Amino acid sequence: QQSALDAGLSPIIRKKLMGFVGFANLPNQVHRKSVRKGFQFTAMVVGESGLGKSTLINTLFNTTLYPPKVPLPPSAERPSTVAIESISADIEENGVRLRLTVVDTPGFGDFVNNDECWKPIVENIEARFDSYLEQENRVNRQKIVDNRVHACLYFIQPTGHSLKPIDIEFMRQLHTRVNLIPIIAKADTLTDEEVAEFKARILADIQYHNIHIFEAPTYENEDEEALAEAKEIMTKIPFAVVGSDKLVKTPDGREVRGRAYPWGVVEVDNEDHCDFVKLRQMLVRTYMEELREYTNDVLYENWRTEKLLSMGVVQDSTVFKEVNPAIRIQEERIMHEAKLAKMEAEMKMVFQQKVQEKEAKLKQSEEELYARHREMKEALEKQRLDLEDKKRRIESGRPLTPEKASTGRKKFLRGG
Ligand code: GDP
Repeated sequence: QQSALDAGLSPIIRKKLMGFVGFANLPNQVHRKSVRKGFQFTAMVVGESGLGKSTLINTLFNTTLYPPKVPLPPSAERPSTVAIESISADIEENGVRLRLTVVDTPGFGDFVNNDECWKPIVENIEARFDSYLEQENRVNRQKIVDNRVHACLYFIQPTGHSLKPIDIEFMRQLHTRVNLIPIIAKADTLTDEEVAEFKARILADIQYHNIHIFEAPTYENEDEEALAEAKEIMTKIPFAVVGSDKLVKTPDGREVRGRAYPWGVVEVDNEDHCDFVKLRQMLVRTYMEELREYTNDVLYENWRTEKLLSMGVVQDSTVFKEVNPAIRIQEERIMHEAKLAKMEAEMKMVFQQKVQEKEAKLKQSEEELYARHREMKEALEKQRLDLEDKKRRIESGRPLTPEKASTGRKKFLRGG
């Protein structure tokens, strides 16, 4: 109570009501308002082409959001990068309107070299955060459009082995930015036993790589039914799904959404056949609001903090505040001057080094010149002595030996 008073808040006293006041109707007020405003939800689908992404989205929302795909002919030019495409639709159920946006990532995992094919996807998710932050910082922020991705359905190929490096790398790069929901695609191609083993291996991989996937939240004061529902959903992750937007007839005459095979019908909405119902429960029926909330409160908030800190916005104990611009300019000036001084010192050093090299070279040629000079002087002196000897011999009338005469002449000719 004292700390509440210190903070300027009034103390809280528990009181019993004497009669009806009306605030018990608050949840209904919120409900009416939400229904009037409508809801927005953005889901992203990622996985190699042909894993049934468009089919599953159509099955989930019971619409033909995606028209049937026409496969490219072999001669057609294929894109060389992951594209990001989004489709929006307004759908309504019992008077509740939902603007559903599906972000598709055609090309993911389809190239010979799939290194870094997660990059355009991370960039797209962060660009959506950026756009939200920019809207929040506007003077008028009455009409914020929330284009942030609230959930990412990651389609795992039904190999029955374990996750591929591309799956692990994608989830590792994305799990701090988006609610990841792993899905085993086309689960009708695996037996029940294979599905169970594949799920266990996928979960072990996810745990080993410290990847955080979206979990059904369990609050302490939640009723038992909700807790049991959350627990049951959790046991199904990664959801092994079958998609089909076509109605087929079962042997007992029912019309169901499913896939007909010569040996029977796989029913999409039958929990004994696949986890589609549980996936829809998690994504739409029970936890759509949780997914939106976790995106806003945790994923976006963490990204926002990182972004603002990297921009030089600092946080004191209670509030965020901008660094004083004058101090910032002063700091930038000091840094700039330090950079200039460093460049000048480097230039000086290089100059000194060049001068030293030149001096050493000059000294060497000087020494070479001296040596040559000495050599020539010695040669001339020898020549002079020879000539003097020759002169003395001629004067004394002694004949020159042929050898001496020729070397004397040669030396004279070379020296002179
Ligand atoms: P996308 O490229 O990932 O969007 O895949 P599509 O939704 O276009 O599906 C590719 C092909 O797989 C189509 O022929 C679908 O009929 C088929 N398909 C979709 N979902 C399933 C499924 O759950 N099981 C099986 N066996 N086939 C499916």
